[in-house]
Amino acid sequence: MEQKNKDVDLRKVAIIGCGFVGSASAFALMQSGLFSEMVLIDADKDRAEGEALDISHGLPLGRPMRIYAGGYDDITDAAIIIITAGANQKPDETRLDLVHKNVAIYKNIIPQIKSRECKGILLIVSNPVDILTHVALKLSGFEENRVLGSGTVLDTSRLKFEIGSYLGVDSRSVHAFIIGEHGDSEIAAWSSANVSGVPMRNFYEFKGKHKYEKAAENIANAVRNSAYEIIEKKKATYYGIAMSVRRICEAIVRDEKSIMPVSAPMHGEYGIKDVVLSMPAIIGKNGVEGRMPIELNEDEIKALKESAETLRDVLKGIE
Ligand code: NAD
Repeated sequence: MEQKNKDVDLRKVAIIGCGFVGSASAFALMQSGLFSEMVLIDADKDRAEGEALDISHGLPLGRPMRIYAGGYDDITDAAIIIITAGANQKPDETRLDLVHKNVAIYKNIIPQIKSRECKGILLIVSNPVDILTHVALKLSGFEENRVLGSGTVLDTSRLKFEIGSYLGVDSRSVHAFIIGEHGDSEIAAWSSANVSGVPMRNFYEFKGKHKYEKAAENIANAVRNSAYEIIEKKKATYYGIAMSVRRICEAIVRDEKSIMPVSAPMHGEYGIKDVVLSMPAIIGKNGVEGRMPIELNEDEIKALKESAETLRDVLKGIE
């Protein structure tokens, strides 16, 4: 459905949850120049005020912008409302372990947004992001196109980084997606992966890397385990996701029609429905403007169905 831009201020963004992820995202957005107003909300008001002040102190060295700690009445006209509130993973916890704590937090946040008839796009970041995107969609009653999760945008960026490093090529020339759950059942879609149009297997050969299957498996495992590794070493991950948030906001505000693997409902693609997960989608001013059914081989479709089943089981536990 067409978003009525007159209802929202395209230069205004809101972030709910100013912990590691929310504050890193706010810092990335301040530097992006995409917005002229940013509202920060946190259950801990001092935290939101502190982050707003700290980030504002960089403004004379960047671009003018108004950044302040606010409340829900301040976000009714925000073009994008980013939700990063919620518990994060502790070492040895999976993203799915967070579900009950964070669903309870969303039951507090989403009705506040709904009751104010906010017309902006909801960008869900808290984990488990696929489940919480589903919950946000149901609780808000918003049109499907304007509730999306950051999904596997971060995992896809990690995949491109790992492939680029291994092959000694600019990661921006790598075209490959992680799809499915943002979590342990995610899938690296190797069958459609390429480097500037050259099929991935051929590019490996070209670079003298002859053990393609083994190398691909190692890279997919490194991507899947990277959050665990970072959390073990520094307790939380936030810079990579902050750049992912910035990139998604850029595609929306600039109406780019960029293709990114965000989390959104499936409607029978590959035989999967009634579950929210990541597949490449067209992102523009209306949020999710279409889905791109990429070519997948039989094994990838099977793994995608299993990933959907994992998520559906979790949904059954909360509905
Ligand atoms: P954090 O503990 O540092 O911050 C969470 C913040 O949420 C805190 O400041 C807390 O006060 C606030 N909060 C809690 N309940 C609230 C409420 N009802 N209203 C407003 N604010 C509330 O955690 P973090 O490291 O910033 O992680 C935040 C979330 O992001 C976690 O769920 C984490 O798993 C997730 N995350 C997602 C990705 C991704 O790729 N989607 C990547 C990294 C982290």
